[in-house]
Amino acid sequence: MATGNINVSVENIFPLIKKFLYSDHEIFLRELISNATDATLKLKHLTSIGEASVEYGNPVIEVSIDKEKKQLRISDQGIGMTKEEVEKYINQVAFSGAEEFLEKYKDTAKDSGIIGHFGLGFYSAFMVANKVEIITKSYKDEPAAHWVCEGTTEFTLEEADKKEHGTDIILHINEDDKEFLEENRIEQLLVKYNKFMPIPIKFGTKEETIELPEDAPEDAKPETKTVDNIINNTNPAWTKQPTDLEDKDYNEFYRELYPMQFEEPLFHIHLNVDYPFNLTGILYFPKMSQDMNIQKDKIQLYQNQVFVTDNVEGIVPEFLTMLRGVIDSPDIPLNVSRSYLQADGAVKKISSYITRKVADKLKTLFNNNREDFEKKWNDIKIVIEYGMLTEEKFFEKAQAFALYPTVDDKYFTFEEFEEKIKENQTDKDGNKVILYASNKDEQHSYIEAAKDKGYEVLLLDTPIVSHLLQKLETSKEKISFVRVDSDHVDNLIKKDEEKISKLSDEEKEKLKEDFEKVIPKEKYSIQLEAMDSNAAPLIITQPEFMRRMKEMQQTGGGMFGMGNMPEMY
Ligand code: ADP
Ligand code: MG
Repeated sequence: MATGNINVSVENIFPLIKKFLYSDHEIFLRELISNATDATLKLKHLTSIGEASVEYGNPVIEVSIDKEKKQLRISDQGIGMTKEEVEKYINQVAFSGAEEFLEKYKDTAKDSGIIGHFGLGFYSAFMVANKVEIITKSYKDEPAAHWVCEGTTEFTLEEADKKEHGTDIILHINEDDKEFLEENRIEQLLVKYNKFMPIPIKFGTKEETIELPEDAPEDAKPETKTVDNIINNTNPAWTKQPTDLEDKDYNEFYRELYPMQFEEPLFHIHLNVDYPFNLTGILYFPKMSQDMNIQKDKIQLYQNQVFVTDNVEGIVPEFLTMLRGVIDSPDIPLNVSRSYLQADGAVKKISSYITRKVADKLKTLFNNNREDFEKKWNDIKIVIEYGMLTEEKFFEKAQAFALYPTVDDKYFTFEEFEEKIKENQTDKDGNKVILYASNKDEQHSYIEAAKDKGYEVLLLDTPIVSHLLQKLETSKEKISFVRVDSDHVDNLIKKDEEKISKLSDEEKEKLKEDFEKVIPKEKYSIQLEAMDSNAAPLIITQPEFMRRMKEMQQTGGGMFGMGNMPEMY
């Protein structure tokens, strides 16, 4: 028998990274800026606990392009690396300095927002560059280092003369990846991935107009000044406490997220939980219309303020993918397939937490200002009805706020509506019959006819209504929905129908006696009241104990086929 070590050749890892690690070349920039951010946050942490003696100051991350030299440079003023640290963190593929840092400072740094995780991000630079240089100086009093690698396992590492702590990463961009030397392309990537990252990111400069003072003469020309072009908002609304934000702040953030969206959101839900998983975010209910393009502006998923994707399928319940906003969680495993995601325990918890928060918010809005909620109902009903159909938990919670509008624009909860119609719209089997219209214009005459008879008619016009009705019929007791133009409407009993019995009171008594002669009095009782409606001439009921005895004897349908309900003849 032979034992041994499997040899993993490092030579093979570069082509592998280039091909498979990330399908999207463009994410190299996100990875390098994440590292620059981590390096800055680490320094922030070390200065705050007194472990680094340098000044933290107001560090900026700078991205710049040198078209002539075909270089893209990312510079930070963070923690930097010594020569030994470059050996340790860079030359060891798949060793994460970020994880090591979090492990070392786990008591104090767990909320520091450090992004890195797998120790692979840096090498994504080789997807777009044939040569990568690192010039770095540690915050410790040690000489700077210069590392150069051309995408093989060989590298050079020597001293450099950089004076300030921090790191410059220089990418020599491939001929095939020239797009990453275009300013527009880089700005577009920065806005997409880094718009809300915690350290300011500078990309060139821009002209800004200086506000004129109040007392400036009318013909004064506003002047401009050149300022740093800072890409990101380092303090996005979702990272703040809900108590520090007003409605207008939420609306402003909505516009920041969706600059092309001019319609105000209807309301927002601020998510904020740190146990048993970490998640923050803000969801918005947009105005829903049947022809809305829900593909365009979607919920965005972030991890520690780094944009990851706007495909939240599997993370957010399907009915809520129609909402907009941001979810930020370091606990969503994104390096796995979507089908795995849906089975993942943490993700399931996240999904049900979000559902619960949305339901709670809707309930609060309903309770606090019903009138306003009713006004918004038509804009949000698609989401809610779809949620009721697809998520059992949401269905249960929605009983408290789901509305059923009538053709006359009155809004009832299901319970209220049941109460409202129970007198007038109960059929002979005791079922409450709910009349509804699906189109006010087409069914106009039927609606009017039903209203003339004193019936309430609901207006249920979303495309999924037929499914929702079925769901309600099976989950509620003694309810049936009947469309206002169907012939079933005739089944309703009219309570105020005139007496139709042709028998006089004496004749009725005589009839009752005759029946009692043939039917054992102690087993059944005869009621003549039914004669006064057009439902039946009389009712023979059986006492509850008799029915049960019969069921126990398992004799099956007796003389009059009695079941739970009084039979009518
Ligand atoms: P991760 O970020 O997951 O730890 P990376 O491959 O992205 O892995 O980076 C490897 C390590 O290299 C980092 O953890 C960090 O220790 C070091 N590093 C990378 N970029 C920088 C930088 N700009 N400043 C300081 N250290 C860096
Ligand atoms: Mg990284």
